[in-house]
Amino acid sequence: MPMRWLAFEHSVGAYRADFFIYGTVSVALGAALLAGPQDVRLLGWAAAGALGWTLLEYLLHRFVLHGLPPFKRWHAEHHRRPTALIAAPTLLTALLFTTLLLLPAVWWLGVWPAAALSFGLLNGYLAYGLTHHAIHGVSAGAKPTWIVRRWLMRRRRWHGLHHRRVARAAPGRTPAPAKEGYYGVSSVFWDRVFRTDRRPP
Ligand SMILES: [Zn+2]
Ligand SMILES: [Zn+2]
Repeated sequence: MPMRWLAFEHSVGAYRADFFIYGTVSVALGAALLAGPQDVRLLGWAAAGALGWTLLEYLLHRFVLHGLPPFKRWHAEHHRRPTALIAAPTLLTALLFTTLLLLPAVWWLGVWPAAALSFGLLNGYLAYGLTHHAIHGVSAGAKPTWIVRRWLMRRRRWHGLHHRRVARAAPGRTPAPAKEGYYGVSSVFWDRVFRTDRRPP
């Protein structure tokens, strides 16, 4: 039995806390960057972080959440109950983020580029989390503008294809990941690149 703060299914409070914590870190990082060295190259690092996130999101979903135990089992639970509050625990994501991205980036690039890269990546992660949350119809009473609604409808259709594909492939079989497809949540780009947006033969 995993400890509560390492559980994948959360209480409403713990689920919201993840958005709150990362939202606060993102605002703090943004403020520090604005007050910092005012170097235009940092914009490039932030963009690289945000774009890098879209690839990371695709790879993590395809190969970790659909390929690697025990994440696979936890993610299967999301596919069984899409509106349940299932997400990677904050402690785990913070640990992975710090050890695999932040510290190596500080070491290789220096503090400010690492901060800008992290800022971009964190915002990508937040956008993914909020999009996935909205896709499954869990609304907090927000009324998005029509352009966001249209974009969300497209994301919902795309992610719906992913859920349907996985459900069809499910009972007793372990299909090759490529047959499931539609792994991108906040973007369709990498599904197009890796051709996981095609119908199975
Ligand atoms: Zn999935
Ligand atoms: Zn989903």
